[in-house]
Amino acid sequence: MSEKTIKLYDENAYNKEFEARVMDCRPANGDFDGFEIILDKTLFFPEEGGQTPDKGTIQVKSETGEGTADGDVVNVLDVQIKGDVISHFTDKSIEPGTVIKGTIDFAHRFSNMQQHSGEHIFSGIVNSLYGYDNVGFHLSDSVVTMDYSGQLSKEELADVELRVNRAIYENVPITCRYPSADELAKLDYRSKKELTGDVRIVTVEGYDICACCAPHVARTGEIGILKIVSSQNYKGGTRVSILCGQRALLYLAGMHDMITELANSLTTSVDSIPDLIHKQQEEIAALKRSLSEAGEKILLSEAAELPADSKCVFMFADKNSDANVIRRVVTKLVAGREGYLGIFFGDDTDGYRFIIGCGNGLNSNDVLNILKEKFQVRGGGAPAMVQGSISGASKEDILSVAATI
Ligand SMILES: [Zn+2]
Repeated sequence: MSEKTIKLYDENAYNKEFEARVMDCRPANGDFDGFEIILDKTLFFPEEGGQTPDKGTIQVKSETGEGTADGDVVNVLDVQIKGDVISHFTDKSIEPGTVIKGTIDFAHRFSNMQQHSGEHIFSGIVNSLYGYDNVGFHLSDSVVTMDYSGQLSKEELADVELRVNRAIYENVPITCRYPSADELAKLDYRSKKELTGDVRIVTVEGYDICACCAPHVARTGEIGILKIVSSQNYKGGTRVSILCGQRALLYLAGMHDMITELANSLTTSVDSIPDLIHKQQEEIAALKRSLSEAGEKILLSEAAELPADSKCVFMFADKNSDANVIRRVVTKLVAGREGYLGIFFGDDTDGYRFIIGCGNGLNSNDVLNILKEKFQVRGGGAPAMVQGSISGASKEDILSVAATI
């Protein structure tokens, strides 16, 4: 078995196809239901440094053993690195000794290169302006996150975003190389950990020098655009999510479509949406206020019709009643009564909420306990007033209990 897989992606990040020889192939261990193939060299970038691996295919070029015929295509579903050996996890096996043609999914790879190079510029600028380190990096097919060791405000993040995009317009070179030990010792570069052996240095001219194993675009212009999509406080620092290139374009296009659709459904222009929403919120608040005032008036006028001599009166209010209004009405009504007064709001299907009050010398908990004996009730309170909810009881059921008190 090979001791070391030659990393072709290290030499040229733009190659899409390569030829190699199968050194080993065996059923994969663990959960993966397929095969683990080791090649003498590969263009497939493995999962490393927070970045998800390349995808693609391996095609048999010449058959020297059993199993697969010339031209068979094997899908590469995962790529991992252990020491210096890279394993390709595939859906089919290929005999060792077979010469293969490997093809990476270059659209996927190029997108990763754009995201990763964008991250380097962002982290380089954060480091030079604020001195914070990138202490966590994750690049998946849907999200790119960076964790910085200090807190960055919205304004600071917006400024960094602008500076990164200016670096993109400048279209400066990005180079990847292995400096000598002497040169490395003198070099001031960003690194997540203490490194030994050959250290690959990625330089964004004028913006960043960082140790990194991943493929990068050759010039910053290829990143296209960088957009921050979210930021939050995280472990005393800041977690920032970004998108670059086509990912950023698709995200912004989706946002634009959504806002345009929103403007259409509000029959207004995009620019007028914030004012209109604000106005509608004020209108809704005013309507809620007048609705609760009207609800209070209705309950009070209904209460005026109530028999004065019944010890316990239960009234029913609109399902959407405001509990504060109900509480206010109960307080007003019990002031002039000898017995108990309860208001229920809800319906037979979804159940009822209730507030029950009483005059001096009585205890509302006594009524609550009667209800608890008969129905499924949750609630509690002080002698003067209790509140709760009741489920599985109809209006008729509740009224029949009132008649017994
Ligand atoms: Zn990197």
